[in-house]
Amino acid sequence: MTEQTQPDGAPATPHDWRPARFMVIAAHPDDADFGPAATAAAWIDQGSVGWLVCCTSGDQGGEDPNMDPLELAAIREREQRAAADVVGYAGVTFLHMPDGALVNDLILREHLVREIRTFRPDAVLATDPENTFPRGAGVNHTDHRAAGWAAADAVYPAARNPMAFPWLAKSGLEKQIVRRLYFFWTHRANAYVDVSATIGRKLGALRCHESQIQDFAALEERMGEWTALQGKEVGVAHADGFFHVVIDDDEAPEPSEAIEGAATLEA
Ligand SMILES: [Zn+2]
Repeated sequence: MTEQTQPDGAPATPHDWRPARFMVIAAHPDDADFGPAATAAAWIDQGSVGWLVCCTSGDQGGEDPNMDPLELAAIREREQRAAADVVGYAGVTFLHMPDGALVNDLILREHLVREIRTFRPDAVLATDPENTFPRGAGVNHTDHRAAGWAAADAVYPAARNPMAFPWLAKSGLEKQIVRRLYFFWTHRANAYVDVSATIGRKLGALRCHESQIQDFAALEERMGEWTALQGKEVGVAHADGFFHVVIDDDEAPEPSEAIEGAATLEA
């Protein structure tokens, strides 16, 4: 469904399409909760089923060089599983890629295609890989950018192409058409999901990441201000902004069928 737009091109109403099944692909434990947790909770409350994939377990997410990174990874996985329960995901997968060294390569892509073809989401949410310098104040973590590109490349064309990683299809993991992408932490939001009813769940999920958050009160205030600012775009109390990419409309036939149809007409 297309949103109404204001003269400057910004949507004037909250985004109202909802996937039956969605997958959040994140670089680190806590990214999904700093990111689209309130949207995930809102969709789940309305009947969607969500799954979270963490590419790394955040084993570099500390300040103590003497800390055992595997111990930290175990703590962060526990925190993320607790947070995922607060949001309401059906489950979490950890791919155990190295923190700080995530690369959009064929190994990561195969892992993500396997996850997509197993859970079979209609939509995938991931970090906007083109947001390198957020609002000119800092650098977006290299893992966030790598995870965003990897998610996009796994969705299209690999997940829907049975000849990509053919051993997956041969072992029963059939192709999956993901119709939409939602990129969070973006500088070019074109869709705003109303999260007024679930902002509390996002804060509850964030509270689970005790190893990462020192001053929760300050964070809570910052998060509330940020979602309120985005809510103003569409006239609601709180919203999550996304760069929304429609690969296939709901009504559209599969691209391969469309192409074959066109070829028949021409012939
Ligand atoms: Zn992160």
